[in-house]
Amino acid sequence: MTARWAVALLAAALVSPPAGTPVHGGDRSPLPVCRVSTGRPLVAVTFDDGPFPAATAAARRLLRRHDARATFFLVGGRAFRRPGVVAALRRDGMEVANHTWSHVVPAGLGPDRSAAEIRRTADAIAGAEALFRPPQGRIDLDGLRAAREAGLLTVVWSVAVERYTSGRPVDEAARELLARIGPGDIVLAHERAPGTLAAIERLLDGLASRGLRAVSVTELLDAGRPVRALPVDGPLTSGNARYVCPG
Ligand SMILES: [Zn+2]
Repeated sequence: MTARWAVALLAAALVSPPAGTPVHGGDRSPLPVCRVSTGRPLVAVTFDDGPFPAATAAARRLLRRHDARATFFLVGGRAFRRPGVVAALRRDGMEVANHTWSHVVPAGLGPDRSAAEIRRTADAIAGAEALFRPPQGRIDLDGLRAAREAGLLTVVWSVAVERYTSGRPVDEAARELLARIGPGDIVLAHERAPGTLAAIERLLDGLASRGLRAVSVTELLDAGRPVRALPVDGPLTSGNARYVCPG
């Protein structure tokens, strides 16, 4: 762990943000946020890869029934073609954010293509929250810089729903998920993945019975201190793309 923190400090020294960049929580680290340290009973549920006409509408209705809010990391090219689905998310108070234009993993793309993927999506989803999630959670220094220069905070996750639901009975998956989730977690889900919405329904019921509330990533960030993911493969450099969420 000591070595990991040394890596984080080195990474922070490698990248200084441009002047005037908005930074959540006053934390200027370039590393992705993977959860939030908070004493408040809040969890952020996030959905990646939409908007899809049927699955995104089903997720939206499910959240509304449970009086929950969530963040949808949208693929720019899809959002551009389906503005009605994006508008419906917004009408229901959901947060929408940036998940690249073409769902390409930004690691290894280089600074220009990384920036283009991010900026084109930001233009297509006017009014999107200043949050970016790289596909597969993989991003290198060029991608992190491109997000930061576009004024976006890079957010990954601390719990992945499909790791539990894949090929398993939904009740069993939901029980294990619930046991794993606590205040400040950022939960990754894909509304179109088989079994995911059924598991999220049980998860939302279980969270409510434990007094936990599902909110957007921005609401969660406002309630505590961001925890940064740490690079798996040593010091953060171009090409280094995988992270682990500490704690
Ligand atoms: Zn994705």
